[in-house]
Amino acid sequence: MSECLFCKIIDGSIPSAKVYEDEHVYAFMDIMPLTKGHTLLIPKTHCRDLFEMPEEVASQLYTAAPKVAKAIQAAFNPAGLNTVNNNGAAAGQTVFHYHLHFIPRYDETDGLRLVWTTS
Ligand code: 5GP
Ligand code: ZN
Repeated sequence: MSECLFCKIIDGSIPSAKVYEDEHVYAFMDIMPLTKGHTLLIPKTHCRDLFEMPEEVASQLYTAAPKVAKAIQAAFNPAGLNTVNNNGAAAGQTVFHYHLHFIPRYDETDGLRLVWTTS
C-alpha cells in the first residue's frame, strides 16, 4: 500500500471532502484552508512534482482545472481565484504528490496576502 498521503485520499483510506472527480484527477477541500473554499487538484497517477509529471498527466490535470474553478465559483462565489503549485521543499512543498492549489479570493476582506511583485 502506498505511503503517500494523497494516494491514500484517492483510494479513500483517508477521508476528504470531494469537489470534483473524473477518471484521471481528484479535487478536494484543503484541510487547513487559506480562504473559504481552498481546494487541491491532484492527478490519480502518483507523481511527485511538475519535474516528473508526464505530459499526458499534465494535460488531464489542466483539462479538469476549469471544471474545478467553476465548481468553486458555483459553491462560494469568490471575487477571484489564485492557482498555486509548490515544487520541491525549497519552494514550500510539504506533500510530495503533485497538487494544484485553488485559493478563492474575496476582495480585501479575505485577510490573505498572496501577491507577487518585482519591486
Ligand atoms: P504544499 O505546502 O505541499 O503546497 O500543500 C500541501 C497542502 O496539503 C496544505 O495546504 C495542507 O493544508 C494540505 N493537507 C495536508 N494534509 C492534508 C490532509 O490530510 N487532507 C487534506 N484535505 N489536506 C491536507
Ligand atoms: Zn501519491
